[in-house]
Amino acid sequence: MKRETRLIHAGRPKDDKGLVNAPVERASTVLAPTTAELYNPTPPRRHYARGGMAPNGELREALCGLYEADHCALASSGLAAVILAIRSAIEGPGEVLVSDTVYSPVRRFCNEELPRLGVTPIYYDPRIGEDIADLITDQTRAILLESPGSLTFEIQDIPAICRVAQAHGVKTAIDDTWSAGLLMNPLALGVDFAAQSLTKYVGGHSDFLGGAVVARGVNADTLKDRASLYGQHMSPDDGFLALRGLRTLAMRLERSGRNALILAERLEGHPKIARVLHPALASHPDHALYTRDFSGPAGCFSFVLDGVSARDGEAIAERLQLFGIGFSWGGYESLVLPCDRQLKRTAVPWQGEGALLRLSIGLEDVDDLLADLEQALA
Ligand SMILES: *Cc1c(COP(=O)(O)O)cnc(C)c1O
Repeated sequence: MKRETRLIHAGRPKDDKGLVNAPVERASTVLAPTTAELYNPTPPRRHYARGGMAPNGELREALCGLYEADHCALASSGLAAVILAIRSAIEGPGEVLVSDTVYSPVRRFCNEELPRLGVTPIYYDPRIGEDIADLITDQTRAILLESPGSLTFEIQDIPAICRVAQAHGVKTAIDDTWSAGLLMNPLALGVDFAAQSLTKYVGGHSDFLGGAVVARGVNADTLKDRASLYGQHMSPDDGFLALRGLRTLAMRLERSGRNALILAERLEGHPKIARVLHPALASHPDHALYTRDFSGPAGCFSFVLDGVSARDGEAIAERLQLFGIGFSWGGYESLVLPCDRQLKRTAVPWQGEGALLRLSIGLEDVDDLLADLEQALA
């Protein structure tokens, strides 16, 4: 079956109650009739909720279906999920190669927490491709990817990087939030651990935080172990919202991506704009990798203003009426984020012609969004 069909049919209740959706089970303790049953339940069942109550099991099943994964671990946020993927990929002290564009709180984890575990982060150009081989030493433990890159939307050559990693026995992990696992499947491209923030497209309604990590084969066993070791958990109420969001993900992402591409093309011709950074544009430097690995556009992209200061970029954002100024993306409502304050790059310093603004395109009418952007730019 196609992914769109699996999204609708995976993770539905299997009991005979006839409910279309699994109910929310709020619990910490699940009582057992005897001590023997508590420690050795037959058939196997949970007696404590950290492993997740309904509908989180159904959510995990649906996400496994989407990625064709053997295990899915849920986490309290997307950030926690990316960190769990990194911790699953790293076995001991050494070095981890990190894409220079990673989401900035992930960068902070790599800089501040990994050294406490004896792991040194080494940042690399996201466009490095198979030349990542030059950075691999006997100390390399893992490679962290993110595609497209946060804020600046570089596409990585995931299969090339994974081939090099596998040849050196190095594990790979990716932050796959932009594709939501639907526009691209990193596990099929060779990545060991794929993490995404469910807060973004899967949730889709800006009303909770959550994250997921998926893996196959032996990596699935490692992931299961690390998730339990770190006490990761997602509340069943948030699991319900995530699963509900998953049912309409394909339709929302299609609309948001289509709107975004129309706007990206129109903004490209605007005299005040130097560059539009959406990988689905033919002008994007990584467009060929995008068309090879992705099945369609998502709705989040950036543009670089021409000779406009960061401060004036913020003023343009404040002129927008339909775009809220805010963090996050992937909701039903459009957002704008002036990003210059967040650009922290060391391997490839960012060089923009002017202020960088990121847009998350929602489900509004595209002509209304275009008119709003044009008036703010004017
Ligand atoms: C938002 C985001 C995260 C973190 O997700 P939260 O659910 O907000 O913790 C991680 N990676 C990327 C690329 C993001 O945009």
